Amino acid sequence: MMHGAADAALDAVEAVLPPQRPVALHEPTLRGNEWVYVKECLDSGWVSTVGSFVTRFERELAAYCGVEHAIAAVNGTAALHTAMVVAGVRTGDEVIVPALTFVGTVNAISYCGAIPHFADVDRETLGLDPVRLARYLDDVAVRKDGVTINRETGRVVRALVMMHTFGHPGHTAALADICKARSIAFVEDAAEAIGSRRAGRHVGASGLVGCLSFNGNKIVTTGGGGAILTNDADIARRARHLTTTARVPAGWEFEHDEVGYNYRLPNINAAMGCAQLEALPGLLAAKRRLAEQYRAACDTLAGVQFVAEPADTESNYWLCALLFDEPAQRDRFLEISNAKGIQTRPPWRPMHRLPMYAECPRMPLGLTDDLVRRIANIPSSPFLALT
Ligand SMILES: *Cc1c(COP(=O)(O)O)cnc(C)c1O
Repeated sequence: MMHGAADAALDAVEAVLPPQRPVALHEPTLRGNEWVYVKECLDSGWVSTVGSFVTRFERELAAYCGVEHAIAAVNGTAALHTAMVVAGVRTGDEVIVPALTFVGTVNAISYCGAIPHFADVDRETLGLDPVRLARYLDDVAVRKDGVTINRETGRVVRALVMMHTFGHPGHTAALADICKARSIAFVEDAAEAIGSRRAGRHVGASGLVGCLSFNGNKIVTTGGGGAILTNDADIARRARHLTTTARVPAGWEFEHDEVGYNYRLPNINAAMGCAQLEALPGLLAAKRRLAEQYRAACDTLAGVQFVAEPADTESNYWLCALLFDEPAQRDRFLEISNAKGIQTRPPWRPMHRLPMYAECPRMPLGLTDDLVRRIANIPSSPFLALT
């Protein structure tokens, strides 16, 4: 067989990686105060949803992301569900969402009884393409009585959720404009993007709310966890209320004034989060170093390129990715790399290809369908390039 792009890409990846096999796609780095802070919880008995680490984690997270309020949640999907509720998403509404995303983004919409409406991505950011989306919305939707209505389905387009794919900042400003002009609530799924910036500003704060995830495979992990970011005090209050079973202060009485959720992050998880935030600048530097090594190693290859951060952004490079010209070379790369103990994998199956979402409304999704056949994610753990 000819030495094609797949084999050349594997050589390049191997040249960057240390010799130990297997190498996972993304492993947590727990080398700071995680033990100390978690032990503090265990020693004090403050392990659950009340405790000083939750408050501290929220305060430090808000400061790091440059937002007024951060509300910690049990996971990123719960944060997204809460975001949908505070954005006013109700049964029978439509919510614009990229077809290229993790299923949690779309499930959060379904939890509200709303219908996801899939939009395509662009090559530069791998996130929503604002140019084609604006044109598409002008085509299929009309403004009426202060809301935007899908002319074909008659449903209100209540919200739009953008997603910062693999940590690369999407077109926040352009998408915010699209939403503003049409009275659509703008939400950011920044689950993969802690530490990522566009025009110097941390992502997740351009709309009504942004959501983070601290799942085990994310850069900052709390075991499981998530957060809602917002600059709006009323939204913050509502999100906090909803994630704590909508309980109202009433002495020892159990008083709840709406259907709430038990979504609060436990203290023991927040303790990990506090330690992880201390380590974050070092982890980000390591990830950017790793990305640069991959980029340099792939620079001269034919038929494959390293997916670099979009212009005017600083990506956290959560998952490094290669883009092959030919789907067959991508498939071969996945096969030969995994056979060698180097964990690589394709992107998510696009949402409109999942059985429960196959019938949802959508714009033409040509680029999503094309990219998922040509992208491979490669090992991206920060420890691979920690100094
Ligand atoms: C990780 C992730 C989430 C949230 O995941 P949880 O496991 O619920 O924390 C949501 N959206 C995207 C795009 C993600 O990558």
